[in-house]
Amino acid sequence: MTALVIENAERRLIEQEPNLDHLHGLSDERRQEIRRSLAGFRHAAQCDLNNCPVGFCCRYKHLITHHDLCRIPFPMSVYCVDCREWRDIMPYHLQYCHNAMCRMPICVWQRHRNDERPARAA
Ligand SMILES: [Zn+2]
Ligand SMILES: [Zn+2]
Ligand SMILES: [Zn+2]
Repeated sequence: MTALVIENAERRLIEQEPNLDHLHGLSDERRQEIRRSLAGFRHAAQCDLNNCPVGFCCRYKHLITHHDLCRIPFPMSVYCVDCREWRDIMPYHLQYCHNAMCRMPICVWQRHRNDERPARAA
C-alpha cells in the first residue's frame, strides 16, 4: 500500500463530509481540520478492519475508544487532548448526520435517548 493510495482513501472520505462553507468565522485551515476529523470519526466508528488501509482510521478508532474509557473527571477533562478533538467535532457531526444507522457513539446514544422518551399522546 503506497502513501498515495492511503492519501486518496482519506481524501475521498473527507470529500464526503459537508464543506462547512457557511462557517464564516473559521479559517480555511480550521475548516479543513474539522472536515478531516469528521471524516475520521465517521469512518472509524463503522470500520471493523483490524488492519484498515485508511491512514487515519487507527487514530480515530483510538480517539473513540479513548473517549469511552477516559475517566479524567471534569473539569480536568477539559485538558485531555484526546477528548478535546472528540468534543470539538461532535457538535458538527450531530448537525450533519442524518444516518439513522450511524454507529458513532454519540448518535447511538441520542437514538437511545429518543427511544426512551414517552410516546406522545395522539
Ligand atoms: Zn478503517
Ligand atoms: Zn480523555
Ligand atoms: Zn451520526
